[in-house]
Amino acid sequence: MKISTEPIGSIPRPAYLIEAMSALAKGEINESDFVKLSDKAIRETIGLFEQTGSPVITDGEQSKPSFATYPIHGLKKLAPDGVVIPFADGHSRQLPKLTGGPFRYQTYASNYFEKAKPFTRLPLKQAVISSSAISLLYPPEGISGYTREQFTSDLVNEAVADIKKCLDAGAYNVQIDFTEARLAIKLDPSKGLLKMFIDLNNQVLDRFTESERKKIGIHTCPGGDHDSTHSADISYSELLPLLFELHAGNFYLEYAAEKDKTSTLKAIKDSSRPNQKIFLGVTNVLNPRIETPQEICDLIVEASEYLPIAQLGTTDDCGFSPFADDVSTAREIAFAKISARIRGTELAEKKLRL
Ligand SMILES: [Zn+2]
Repeated sequence: MKISTEPIGSIPRPAYLIEAMSALAKGEINESDFVKLSDKAIRETIGLFEQTGSPVITDGEQSKPSFATYPIHGLKKLAPDGVVIPFADGHSRQLPKLTGGPFRYQTYASNYFEKAKPFTRLPLKQAVISSSAISLLYPPEGISGYTREQFTSDLVNEAVADIKKCLDAGAYNVQIDFTEARLAIKLDPSKGLLKMFIDLNNQVLDRFTESERKKIGIHTCPGGDHDSTHSADISYSELLPLLFELHAGNFYLEYAAEKDKTSTLKAIKDSSRPNQKIFLGVTNVLNPRIETPQEICDLIVEASEYLPIAQLGTTDDCGFSPFADDVSTAREIAFAKISARIRGTELAEKKLRL
């Protein structure tokens, strides 16, 4: 395809896998029983993904406990009472907090990639969590014997290793999930927190070469959990100029659900750099209505008035189920939306005579 198109990552897990995750946590089944079921879910998900016609696919994050917590799943030095992230519908997610060092990832994202790779010959992308999200684990009161500086140094090393292992294993590209970017402005309107997050992520990105960074992207969105958001009330134009200061080659931006698309396109045009590729979300993951290829085509044609086609791609607004237990979107709807994205992108290629 002339216009690049890629998914974000997660697909709702089938009921048998969600039941198996909870049975494993309760000790009702063992690890090898669980692996059989998660392998089945990965194989089925990849099969359905291939049928959508998507030129790049993921494993649907079937065996990831969540987009954010996979590196710390099973970590011993954690207490449950960390940062709380409130969502617009009143529900919240609470992160754990670290109680001791040295900090090491328990699982690298390349494990998921290696598992999925034998099931497909299509280019497979892999998502990793941002170092800034994981930085929220360090408690404001500090940890005796393990300073914030020591933690940050360990964290940057681990986040670099997480990306590097995926690239070394043959990932088509790597996407850093940076969904706390817009939330950071909500938590700190002075943007000091956002700037700290961007600096931390750049410490990770700067450890890669220019050609490696072409294969590294950033995803941002106002949060998507149980069909609700945590920071959609913060204007995109506040975030975008700072976001493009990240030293990444690709940007996967929530867009279809944005109310003010013209301001968003203007902000992207004004603040993105020529070597940064912009994948606009053309399917709204929080709304079960399936977009028509025509409306997706119209979004792309409008965007092409602001950005050169070579710099433009399409994606979904977010993963369809970033947390394993989120079943607010049906699997069939997720795949139907992905098919619509592919058909809409093809239609735009015709319309733009590419
Ligand atoms: Zn997202």
